[in-house]
Parts: sequence; C-alpha cells; structure tokens
Amino acid sequence: MSKKAFIIGTGLGGLATALRLSSEGYQVEMVEKYHQAGGRLNQFKQDGFTFDLGPSFFSMSYEFEELFKSCNVNNPLKFNELNPLYAVYFSYRKSPYLIYKDLPRLAKEFEKLESDLEPKIRKYLDQAKGIFHDTEYRIVKRNYSSKLAYLLALMSVPLRHAPKLGRSMWSELNRHFTAHEVKVIFSLVAFFLGATPFDTPAVYSLLNYTELEHDGYWNVQGGMYKITEELLKLLAERQVKIHYNTEIQDIEVKDGVVSVFIDQYGNHYKADVFISNSDAAAFRGQILKRPKYTEQKLDKMEWTLSPFTIYLGIKGKLDNLYHHTYFLGDNFEDYADKIFKTSVSPQKPYYYVNVSSKSNPDAAPEGCENLFILCPMPDLRYKTDWSDSEQLADTIIDDLGKRIGYNLRKNTLTRTVWNPIQWRDSFNLYKGSGLGLAHGLNQVGALRPSNRDEDLKNLYYVGASTVPGTGLPIVVISSRLATERILKEHGK
Ligand SMILES: Cc1cc2nc3c(=O)[nH]c(=O)nc-3n(C[C@H](O)[C@H](O)[C@H](O)COP(=O)(O)OP(=O)(O)OC[C@H]3O[C@@H](n4cnc5c(N)ncnc54)[C@H](O)[C@@H]3O)c2cc1C
Repeated sequence: MSKKAFIIGTGLGGLATALRLSSEGYQVEMVEKYHQAGGRLNQFKQDGFTFDLGPSFFSMSYEFEELFKSCNVNNPLKFNELNPLYAVYFSYRKSPYLIYKDLPRLAKEFEKLESDLEPKIRKYLDQAKGIFHDTEYRIVKRNYSSKLAYLLALMSVPLRHAPKLGRSMWSELNRHFTAHEVKVIFSLVAFFLGATPFDTPAVYSLLNYTELEHDGYWNVQGGMYKITEELLKLLAERQVKIHYNTEIQDIEVKDGVVSVFIDQYGNHYKADVFISNSDAAAFRGQILKRPKYTEQKLDKMEWTLSPFTIYLGIKGKLDNLYHHTYFLGDNFEDYADKIFKTSVSPQKPYYYVNVSSKSNPDAAPEGCENLFILCPMPDLRYKTDWSDSEQLADTIIDDLGKRIGYNLRKNTLTRTVWNPIQWRDSFNLYKGSGLGLAHGLNQVGALRPSNRDEDLKNLYYVGASTVPGTGLPIVVISSRLATERILKEHGK
C-alpha cells in the first residue's frame, strides 16, 4: 500500500512537494487556510481586471524545468524573459534608467554617469559569478545533517570569497563603481533578502549575477497564477485532495511522532509523514509551542519587510511604465536606514510597480492596464496601526501619477489595498513579513530553521522560512530538499 503524506498549506512550496511526492507514489492530502491555493503566489479578479496578488517575476527559471522533469511531466508553463529587466526612476530625473542584460547597452544607459561601466561591471559580475557557482551545490542546494556538516561545507568554499563575508554589499559596490545611481540600482536586490545593502554581506552580490548575467528575470504567459493553476491540474490527475478554508491549529504526538494534526473544526488528519508549508519558525512556536520559538524569541529574529500592496485597474494605456519599474527618491541611505523600524508611514515612499497587462493583455479590459504597486514597509512588530492605509495608498498613487504624467486617481476603475495585517491574516505570515525570515549569515544554511523537525521524526518543513530561503525558485529548491529527506528517511 502507498504511504500517505499530509501537507499543511498550498503555497508554491506545498504544491511542489505534493507533486514530487505524488510522483514517487505517495498518496497526498492537503489543507489550506485561505479559500484558494497558491499562498503568496495568488490571484484575484475584480471589475474585469485580473491581479496577481504577490510575485510578479522570478530568476533561475530552470528550477521550474527541474521540478517538472523530475516528475516526468512536460513543463506546462510558458515563460517570457523580461527585457529590459526593469526600469528605475529617481525623483530628480524625468526619464528612467533601463536595466539590460546586454552589458554594452547597459553601459550606454549610464555613459554620462560612469565611464567604462562595461569593463567595471564585467569584473564585478565575474567575482559574483564565482561566488554563485562555488556555493550553489556546496552550500545552497543541499541538506545538512548537523551544524558541523554545515561548517565543513563552508570550509570547502574557496578562501578568496572570504573578504566578502566581512564587508557590506554597499562597500563592495563602492569598490567597483563611482556613480551613486549605479550603486543604488545594483543594491536593490538586497531588499529581496529583507535587509538593506548597508547590512547585507557582499557575498549576496551573487544576486546581481543571477539577474544581469546568468538567467535574468522571467514572468509567465497568462499571469503568474498560471504556476499555481498548472500545479493544481497535475495534482488533480494524481488524486491529491485539498481542503480549503481549513486551518491546522493543533497537534497530537505519540511515541516521538505526529499522530494527527487537528483543524479549527476539530477534524483529525492522519498520515505517515507530515509536511508544514506554514512559516517554519512561526509554526514551531504557535502550533508546536517550542520554547525556542516563543513570540518573544521570534520577535528577536530578523524578518523581511512587510508588503503594502495596491491593485489598480486603470482606464488608458501607460507608456511610461515598463513591466517592472522602481520609483526611488533622493535620500536612499537615510530611507534604507529608517524604513525597517519606523512606526510611521513614509511621506515619500519608495515603491515598485508591475503592469502585467503589458505582457498579458487578458489581465485588463481593452484600453486599460492593471497596476500592482508594492511598497516595502516595517512589519507589525514596529508599525501596528494601519488605519492610515487608504491615505498612504493615495500618497503613493498621487506620487506615481505625477511621475508618469497621468491622472491615475481620475482614471481608476477599481482599487484594492492590502496592508501587512491582511497579508498576515490571509497566509499566517509572521507579523506580516512578506518574504519570511531574513537571510543574514546567522539565518542561512544549518542556522535557518531546518526542513526536518528537531523532535518529531515524521514532520518536515518546506517553504520560504526553511532552507534554502525565500523567492519562487528557491522555494522550488526547498521542495526538492524536503522531498529528498522524506524519501531517504521514509522510503517510497
Ligand atoms: C508582495 C510579495 C511580492 C513578492 N514578489 C516576489 C517576486 O516577484 N518573485 C519571487 O521570486 N518571490 C516573490 N515573493 C516571495 C514569494 O512569494 C515567496 O517566497 C513564496 O511564494 C513563498 O512560498 P511558500 O510556499 O513558502 O509560502 P506561502 O506562499 O506563504 O504558502 C504557505 C501556505 O500555507 C498556508 N498556511 C499557513 N499556515 C497554515 C495552517 N496552520 N493551516 C493551513 N494552511 C496554512 C497559507 O495560507 C499559505 O497558503 C513575493 C512575496 C510577496 C508577499
């Protein structure tokens, strides 16, 4: 008889693990707190517009290829490469800088600011490439049996990268470039890790290599939610059962293993192995009541910024926006320094805008665009009162309208705002943190909450706050690492 796996959560991590395990012959059952699958990779439709709720692009597209290939199915998704990768507006400049993978073209974009950008960036990226490939399999894409094993793995990384552990990404950029704008733009990737470039170690310059040289950025034809939809189709073919609006709130343990998980209605779920796609740190505290993960201790950990998101359906076509555009001010250092820990909404917020109707016209009625605006904010440890959400949204929309020369407020056909409270309550994101645990050197590898439970031999974890970390392709890797452990320890 086939073994049974029970998965808590249908985020990308949960769905990808379900696909891998069901392909290995496991019978899989899942529960999901939200009313539909996808977790942060979700979608909603309103007034003729379709909005992707969270992710709008990804790097390392080959991780999706690997997922489908390892499950013996053709990749049902069609990816669009983003070109330019993105655009960046500074408040003091009317036109944006366009960021291309084509380095001579990129150098031309900055020729008035930074002479010889092409050789400089090639040198910078060469070093970043070295870090990426020297850590990819040795450190990132593997399970650790102990902290010692992790230490030994770290020691196998060539010593020439060591100085980059000791200096910040910003000081690394200072060593290579002179133009402030160039440094700011290449440092934006630090925010994906939940930190600022001033406190992110320079080793993470490898992210510049992934965007500018390695695989670039991609989105999905038909919208990002196609990823969730196609995974759901494959799971349906494998008779995977999913219970929506169902939240796991309790556990029973017997002889060192989970015997059942219990939902809010008192229903019991039994299985041979259990996998939590809920936040790997918060779940240990809130459901398993582990002393190492009390609220006080969770609060002391480093978390990524909270999302403040606005979804706008706009009448008219917006030519000054690209698929993927950043809007920055003129006080980058000061803004980055304060944004994490303030309790007040910024007067001049920095934000990111995605217009998926540019590459997926079906997402908006004819002659219209759908806008997704993401403004990173302090999490609910620092700012608890979000009664100013609509006001904050107005500030951002007015600023955006001014900068692109279009009256957005007058042309708004539909508008929805999500603040960190909605993000927390919809998907159990700890204190509304958007990307989960941050990736400082004390919270990666064997120092991150493990994908195998410390005490319960049939409980595993997958997703952004366990190994290797956050972001769509990384969560796909997480599903591979969790599945490898389960198959090794429990067989097929
Ligand atoms: C606004 C935003 C924008 C982003 N943009 C990008 C991007 O452009 N590119 C990129 O690569 N990444 C992006 N990310 C990050 C990316 O979305 C995440 O890293 C990834 O989706 C996490 O997947 P996951 O499976 O770990 O978790 P989740 O998507 O959070 O899924 C976990 C699921 O478990 C459910 N759950 C939790 N607890 C329980 C419980 N007790 N019982 C039942 N169900 C439960 C939740 O409801 C949720 O559906 C973005 C994130 C946000 C918030």
